[in-house]
Amino acid sequence: MEKYAAYDPLDNLLIDVDDKPHIYIIKQTTCGNKCPDHSCTNFCPSRVFSWEGGKLAVDYTRCVECGACQYSCIHKNIHWEYPRGGFGVVYLY
Ligand code: SF4
Ligand code: SF4
Repeated sequence: MEKYAAYDPLDNLLIDVDDKPHIYIIKQTTCGNKCPDHSCTNFCPSRVFSWEGGKLAVDYTRCVECGACQYSCIHKNIHWEYPRGGFGVVYLY
C-alpha cells in the first residue's frame, strides 16, 4: 500500500478575525442544566467551545466556518452566522 505523508489541510487557510463575535450561546443555563455531555466541545473540529468554570466558553476567533455546530447542538443553543464581509476564513490558494 502506498504511504502518504501526513499534512494539515488547514495549513491552507488563515482567519482574518473580526472584533464582532459571529457565534454566541443563546442560553448558558441550558448548557449547564440540560446538556451534561457538552457535546459541542467534541464536535467542533477547531476547539471553539470549552467548558470552563461552570460555563461554556466560546472562542469564535478559532472558527473555520465548517457549519457543524448549526446542526449538532440538540438544544439549538448556538447562534452562528458568517463573519461580516471581509472577515473570517481566507484561503491561501
Ligand atoms: S451542545 Fe449545545 S446545549 Fe450542549 S453545551 Fe454545547 S451549546 Fe450548550
Ligand atoms: S462552524 Fe465549525 S469550526 Fe466554527 S464553531 Fe461551528 S463547528 Fe466549530
